[in-house]
Amino acid sequence: MKIICIGRNYVEHIRELNNAIPSEPVFFLKPDTALLIRNRPFYYPSFSTDIQYELELVLKINKVGRHIQKEFALTYFDEIGLGLDMTARDLQENAKKKSLPWAVAKGFDQSAPVSGFILKNHFSDLKNINFHLDLNGRTVQQGNSGLMIYSFEDIITHISRYMTLRTGDLIFTGTPAGVGPVKNGDVLEAWLEGEKMLKCEIK
Ligand code: MG
Repeated sequence: MKIICIGRNYVEHIRELNNAIPSEPVFFLKPDTALLIRNRPFYYPSFSTDIQYELELVLKINKVGRHIQKEFALTYFDEIGLGLDMTARDLQENAKKKSLPWAVAKGFDQSAPVSGFILKNHFSDLKNINFHLDLNGRTVQQGNSGLMIYSFEDIITHISRYMTLRTGDLIFTGTPAGVGPVKNGDVLEAWLEGEKMLKCEIK
């Protein structure tokens, strides 16, 4: 499986990092070795001093598809969960300056803690899904799918123009504002429509 992540999909987050609003969805990949499941702890890597959390809605692809038309895009996933796009911000900023790829900054081991999943049909409106992240009990990020620049359909349509989607692939749909650093001992807890989905302790 592969993990596809959308960047720059919430206006307030784009502003906080001083980026430009993209004219089409921007995406990058994490390898399957980035996956961290079952609320296992995240071990702070030695190569970075600025690991940051980015809480995102995650779609789980349920069938093979390429060149997916927008009208059918929603049939390519049944389940929604939460994920943390853990980012070595120092390495990413350095890569950006030098126009180098983000592979290391975004794709290192354990850089994708992912929750369990909830059936899509559980949500009454896919354009109004609330989620939030607490850091040591204090809410630091709040998101709503209605604030995404590119919708789930837009994202699936766009990615599948270039890369075949396969069953089990995960799509991280972008982070809202409020990203920030973690340190040893921190506890991240993520909530989807009032349900606690994910806990991640930094070690
Ligand atoms: Mg992200």
